[in-house]
Amino acid sequence: LVSREQHPDRSSVYVRGVPIGPDTVTLIAGPCAVETPDQTLAAARMAQEAGATLLRGGAYKPRTSPYQFQGLGEKGLKILAEVRQETGLPVVTEVVTASDVPMAASYADMLQIGTRNMQNFALLQAVGEARVPVMLKRGMSSTIKEWLMAAEYIAQRGNLEIVLCERGIRTFETATRNTLDISAVPVVQRLSHLPVIIDPSHSGGKRELVLPLSKAAIVVGADGIIVDVHPEPDTALCDGAQALVHEDLDELALAVAELTAYT
Ligand code: PEP
Repeated sequence: LVSREQHPDRSSVYVRGVPIGPDTVTLIAGPCAVETPDQTLAAARMAQEAGATLLRGGAYKPRTSPYQFQGLGEKGLKILAEVRQETGLPVVTEVVTASDVPMAASYADMLQIGTRNMQNFALLQAVGEARVPVMLKRGMSSTIKEWLMAAEYIAQRGNLEIVLCERGIRTFETATRNTLDISAVPVVQRLSHLPVIIDPSHSGGKRELVLPLSKAAIVVGADGIIVDVHPEPDTALCDGAQALVHEDLDELALAVAELTAYT
């Protein structure tokens, strides 16, 4: 269902009217984790002022360590919905449990499947039954074939509004958190009609890598970029080292606009 053999033209996915697909480069920005209403609103305003058209924010944070901040859960989803009301930005948020999908879909405009859950088949089937678009991140140790098969699990349940997100894979390299597989963008675009975006924040794990990785992604044809921003990264409860501040985000948005016009 997700292959170009079935559907030769590349698809666009609309998140509350915001397109992600071949005709545009969509900028998605927001906090890694929803912490407080003020922090989420401040991050959303930064995103909006820079020209981002979708707001990201995690209410459920599947962390490597159980002793790290795990997110605010439904309280975080309520904050995201309030911030959408305030800014008009549609919301993208991660869901980690199949039984939470209908509840999360009642607050959010797009559901994200994180890298650790790419092969959680019950969760994939649950979002496949939801009537909101899905962002499917690549498993950090998954091949492109496995990633596309995970997308099939969603599509098979009737939801073809899927955006694929390359967020870095595990390699022997330790200088970055994960290695952004830039080649995945053109490879997947040849195999599948689904839009492909990249996450330079979670792949590089470092603020200073976000701009160069984003530029590279646009040049190879990515359909969008999803980045972490935070009004005060030093106090962030999650992944502060990769969060952009105001000026970084403005610089990124400018580079996206320039490169999009050029490519
Ligand atoms: C995220 O986007 O908040 C996240 C945790 O990403 P990933 O699943 O790619 O690590």
